[in-house]
Amino acid sequence: MSETTETIFSKIIRREIPADIIYEDDLALAFRDIHPQAPVHILLIPKKPIPQLADAESQDHALLGHLLLTAKRIAEDAGLKNGYRVVINSGDDGGQTVYHLHLHILGGRQLHWPPG
Ligand code: AMP
Repeated sequence: MSETTETIFSKIIRREIPADIIYEDDLALAFRDIHPQAPVHILLIPKKPIPQLADAESQDHALLGHLLLTAKRIAEDAGLKNGYRVVINSGDDGGQTVYHLHLHILGGRQLHWPPG
């Protein structure tokens, strides 16, 4: 794993900076993106500070499964009955800007493909 660094998401987990938190369990936290790209734009993060998907290891198998199933539940709870998109940006070419693994849950409008 690449070196774990403190990010703004670590501060959100510790409630050191404000966020619109909509879900929490022992393993994960979800909050609204500060610059939403769709009517619903939620970030779901593991509490474990994995910097990016490329750093996930086999021991993270259950955690990654938990995150996907939690994303589904959050999308349902957000009323995204007509569909939604779950995105993970990994690394510079992936467009990642915050190096704490996160799933973007986007919905509430027709999303286009390719994303660019
Ligand atoms: P990425 O580019 O995939 O790393 O996504 C990082 C996301 O974090 C962006 O969509 C930002 O708008 C979002 N973001 C950055 N800082 C905050 C914050 N303090 N609260 C909520 N979302 C944030």
